Amino acid sequence: MKRDFLQLVSERTVLFDGAMGSMLIDAGMKPDECPELWNVEKSSIIKEIHQRYFDAGADVVLTNTFGGTEIKLGTKGLEKRAEELNKAAVRNALSVCKTNRYVAGDIGPTGKFLPPVGDITEGELYQSFSRQTEALLQEGVDMIVIETMYDLREALQAVKAVRDIASSIPLITTMTFEKKKRGFFTLIGDTPEKCFSALENFGVNIVGANCTLESKDMVELCSLIRGKTRLPLSFQPNAGQPVVRDARVTYPQSPEAFAADIDQLVELGASIVGGCCGTTPEFINAAWEALQKRI
Ligand SMILES: [Zn+2]
Repeated sequence: MKRDFLQLVSERTVLFDGAMGSMLIDAGMKPDECPELWNVEKSSIIKEIHQRYFDAGADVVLTNTFGGTEIKLGTKGLEKRAEELNKAAVRNALSVCKTNRYVAGDIGPTGKFLPPVGDITEGELYQSFSRQTEALLQEGVDMIVIETMYDLREALQAVKAVRDIASSIPLITTMTFEKKKRGFFTLIGDTPEKCFSALENFGVNIVGANCTLESKDMVELCSLIRGKTRLPLSFQPNAGQPVVRDARVTYPQSPEAFAADIDQLVELGASIVGGCCGTTPEFINAAWEALQKRI
């Protein structure tokens, strides 16, 4: 019997996995390929990445379904395979998950914008998130993570879709913020405070930030927002700012420097920590070691 996840979060810091996308690029995925297609065509690689994160000490891995909405898959002509690809992703992660570990169904942004930037409607977003959620839940994920959201309105449609289908499944939602002179804002211009209070009102259990920011900026964000929400906080920074070298995107940070900032995040009260773009099992293992030293 698996321990209740939210209970675990209330008792100790929980470690999430690191990047999937940059790991897939390292494994040979071409820029025009669809990462979710690898759930069926190269499932052994996906399982191995999940396994490596669990071995590194992660309590939770995210399914390879960041772009698993019909809207996003539609940009590759794969919208009709959404259910199949999402379900295969869950099976891949569950196949290497032991009873004391967890699989989170990952939901990312659709890539389309609501007016005035784009012309997608809230109803279309809701439908697309609903169908992805159904597939993830049917295959047995332990929780849902909605992440890298840059528009609060889109995030709320995803939250609504999840909560209409599963009113009590643990639900984490992390926005992505840019650091500006006046503070931290989403691409659309919302503050963390506004985002977190809206997400709480819509029934999210845990809020936070992932991607875009490197770990030292995430520490600054954490120190600014702690105490401004009653919900537990989750942070997954990138491995530094990306640099292009030989036409390849690389991330310059060392696992040790990353882990030192993860330690700071925990010191400041983060309940969940993990990595985003550029982080690898080595980063998660360094973070795990930092967490062990705190016990
Ligand atoms: Zn990222």
